[in-house]
Amino acid sequence: MRPFDYYRPESFEEAFHLLALPDKTVIPMAGATDLLPGVRDEAFAPDVVVDVKGLPGLRDLKVLEDGALFVGAAVRMNELVHSELVGRHWAVLAEGAGWMGNEQVRNRATIGGNCCTASPAADTPPALLVLEASAVIKTIQGDRRVPMTEFFTGPKRTVLQTGELLAGFEIPQPPLGTVARYVKLSRRKKGDLTIVGVAALAYPQDGGYAWRLALGAVAPTPVRAPKAEALLTKGHAAERIEQAASAAYSFCSPISDIRASAEYRTAMVIAMTKRAIQGVLEQLEAA
Ligand SMILES: Cc1cc2nc3c(=O)[nH]c(=O)nc-3n(C[C@H](O)[C@H](O)[C@H](O)COP(=O)(O)OP(=O)(O)OC[C@H]3O[C@@H](n4cnc5c(N)ncnc54)[C@H](O)[C@@H]3O)c2cc1C
Repeated sequence: MRPFDYYRPESFEEAFHLLALPDKTVIPMAGATDLLPGVRDEAFAPDVVVDVKGLPGLRDLKVLEDGALFVGAAVRMNELVHSELVGRHWAVLAEGAGWMGNEQVRNRATIGGNCCTASPAADTPPALLVLEASAVIKTIQGDRRVPMTEFFTGPKRTVLQTGELLAGFEIPQPPLGTVARYVKLSRRKKGDLTIVGVAALAYPQDGGYAWRLALGAVAPTPVRAPKAEALLTKGHAAERIEQAASAAYSFCSPISDIRASAEYRTAMVIAMTKRAIQGVLEQLEAA
């Protein structure tokens, strides 16, 4: 594997200095579960790797004054899975994180790395989308916040500019009575990348329920499905669920790859959307 220099700065000042080193390819690193295989396969050719895990706030998992959850970019998947705090109002994020890879990967992989890699098939973005999270981005000029609906700009592309770092996510406290599910289809039950992933969330509103749906692995970026959400607010009869699942499909442009053909993905978008909606309805009935 190509050699590179490794730094673990403890301040953003130091990190920004390293990221701006002249004539060097400098790449941030968190758990390295995407980065190191990428260096091995020559998708990345860093001269310098900047480990972000020692930066202030990046390992934080805490409730902010307004009741929102702050999740630092370097929080690991298994920390989310086992966190009592996350389980309180944001359990769908733990559910997404729990579907990721295997135990070893979840012990290293971070939520920030999962989003910065910007794989359409990543498992935490659908949950972040239905929770209406925002990314907190550190730049030399200061912080900026970007809604997760605008964070992904294409496969492997995000709004992050060279020299910027993802600090974490602010996730509002969902409305009272919210329930949510993330369902994933992959070739194996656990430990494989997503063929179709769907997050669904509902909460009581005006005597009925408001809905949010997000899909992964079926378009160039993870997507919300507002037409399907609007249909579900009108009721949950079997025919309505069918219509909503078909409407969700209209936001997708599935491709064929080694995991599934476009035709199979198309059929599965509809089936998995229905499964996510049913999962939410079962929780609502049990509540
Ligand atoms: C065996 C295996 C199975 C996997 N299974 C799944 C799966 O089921 N589902 C899934 O979604 N993923 C899966 N992955 C992919 C990977 O584990 C995740 O995407 C992981 O969350 C990446 O996080 P990381 O901390 O390891 O990121 P890294 O590899 O450290 O970084 C990934 C990218 O993000 C950038 N980056 C990281 N942190 C920051 C930051 N704070 N600011 C700016 N840029 C940053 C890096 O420069 C790099 O480009 C799997 C990987 C392996 C090896």
